[in-house]
Amino acid sequence: MSHQSDLIADDIKGYLKAQEAKSMLRFITCGSVDDGKSTLIGRLLYDSKMIFEDQLAALESDSKRLGTQGDEIDFALLVDGLAAEREQGITIDVAYRFFSTDKRKFIVADTPGHEQYTRNMATGASTADLAILLIDARKGILTQTRRHSYIASLLGVKNIVLAVNKMDLMDYSEDVVNTIDTEYREFAKDFGFRTIETIPVSALKGDNIITKSAAMAWYAGPTLMAHLEDIPVGDARQAADFRMPVQWVNRPNLDFRGFSGTIASGTVRVGDTIKALPNAQESRIKSIVTYDGDLDEAVAGEAVTLTLEDEIDISRGDVIASKDTPPEAADQFEAKIIWMADQPMLPGRPYIFKTVNKMVPGHVTDLKHKVNVNTLEHTAAKQLELNEIGVCNIALDSRIAFDPYGENREMGSFIIIDRINNTTVGVGMIDFALRRASNIHWQALDVNKSARATMKLQKPAVLWFTGLSGSGKSTIANIVEQRLYARNRHTYTLDGDNVRHGLNQDLGFTDVDRVENIRRVGEVSKLMVDAGLMVITSFISPFRAERRMVHDLLEDGEFIEVFVDTPIDVCAERDPKGLYKKAKAGEIKNFTGFDSPYEAPERAHIHLKTDEVSAEDCADKIIAYLEGHGYLSAEGFTSGGGI
Ligand code: ADP
Repeated sequence: MSHQSDLIADDIKGYLKAQEAKSMLRFITCGSVDDGKSTLIGRLLYDSKMIFEDQLAALESDSKRLGTQGDEIDFALLVDGLAAEREQGITIDVAYRFFSTDKRKFIVADTPGHEQYTRNMATGASTADLAILLIDARKGILTQTRRHSYIASLLGVKNIVLAVNKMDLMDYSEDVVNTIDTEYREFAKDFGFRTIETIPVSALKGDNIITKSAAMAWYAGPTLMAHLEDIPVGDARQAADFRMPVQWVNRPNLDFRGFSGTIASGTVRVGDTIKALPNAQESRIKSIVTYDGDLDEAVAGEAVTLTLEDEIDISRGDVIASKDTPPEAADQFEAKIIWMADQPMLPGRPYIFKTVNKMVPGHVTDLKHKVNVNTLEHTAAKQLELNEIGVCNIALDSRIAFDPYGENREMGSFIIIDRINNTTVGVGMIDFALRRASNIHWQALDVNKSARATMKLQKPAVLWFTGLSGSGKSTIANIVEQRLYARNRHTYTLDGDNVRHGLNQDLGFTDVDRVENIRRVGEVSKLMVDAGLMVITSFISPFRAERRMVHDLLEDGEFIEVFVDTPIDVCAERDPKGLYKKAKAGEIKNFTGFDSPYEAPERAHIHLKTDEVSAEDCADKIIAYLEGHGYLSAEGFTSGGGI
């Protein structure tokens, strides 16, 4: 790169050392191209001479050919050119650029500013120390300025630069800037920003970007670059309490047992007393081992292996923390969620929640409200759509160690992963733990599942029928139950229509209600399996995610998925309840197969094609499966003994 190429050529070690010693500022630029964002970033890169020489040559010729600035360089072309390079195959559209000056290193995250790109801005802002909000001096504070400010504050960005751009078009007027400054400070007063610096600039002409503007003698503050170079950022991660999530337990031989991971925050020293969470065991640091030898202390960002003075039980995903200021451990929280997927977030649907180092299944128990990012109003909602932000209660299947996001970004954030296709569908920031369920324990009773099952001479399980309406679930389930009854088996059938008359009478047929319907039936099935019964369920259960949830609620071998596979035209012809006729006439909404999807099982345990096989034969096939897998014979019963 041009300005330091001499140093790189003459003294590469000196260059690297100088780089290493410099502090780092991560920032994000918010605003749209029309506000002059590309020009501003291009100007910063160009004036700090951090453009590769070949890029510079291309830029000069492109500017003459395509630019909007006559013979001058069009900086927007530079940034747009860089943008084009990364456009392929990236879903989250954030470009990170690195540059440095003599004083500091910078990483700038450049994100598109439109409303539909909330997720991109959130991705860029989650590690930023500072946000530059670009304001067009002619337009003042707009809805998007408010939106960007809210998201920046939500993500814990502490420093704001209000870059009032295009001052050249407003006669470099002081009044314009003062009005914007006053209005913004009033708007942002509750956002928890540590600093707000208003800087009048012209990205196009270069005023107050690197050099002070001669046209704005009234302005006494720093240039944009001077502010970026001088603002104290003091690494918040290092100042925070010590936390290290354990990535793996390192046990090469019997004499060594260490816990390896990257320190998420704070400092650790040999001799420190620590607490391991979520199990709350204590010990002291015996040594801090690294590839380059042992250390006396290590800080946030370093990858180390810790050995302890006592043998305590710590596994992957646990957190080692300072004993006196440990994180909390809980399985229920209130958190803010930013949704990033086309498929909406449905409360009750199982997702994987990935915290610093741990993947835990869980679900949103309650969407308390959505936040309108433009007006900051709270609105009631049943589900979260792409780019929406909601305040939610979350329940996880096991406890995790965490800090509130406001105190520790690493320990207070999580991503949400779809269980079926493993994509990231949302990010979340934990506000606080919910205490209500933490002192309710599962009651361990002496007469247990295996005792009850032994008495009934059967291996309890759920035969989970899934298929379109009219596919034949109830008909076949009914025959299966009769056959089991004839063999003195203890059964119970949960039927969709019957359950909706009682337990689930408050639920309709929207996606949200369908998810909740199946969640409750899953829980009831689990209780019945615990009672030692063969449970037969007959629900359309259209979504893979919920069937998977029920599978996961139960123990191995207790969930038998029966796919009643009947083409929709055959179901419509049978139409046992007259529902297809009504759906066709537009009298029923959200009817599976019409205006509500059905996700067929990919690997059902039993696959029945009812247009080829009679209901009786389908039932025989199920009984044969149960016999073949030891569900019906006392000898085949393997889940263990009596009381
Ligand atoms: P669901 O419970 O899946 O909504 P039902 O069992 O109530 O479906 O209705 C299925 C209808 O299809 C019944 O009228 C049944 O007699 C008829 N049918 C015809 N062939 C079959 C078959 N091979 N298996 C199951 N049902 C069949």
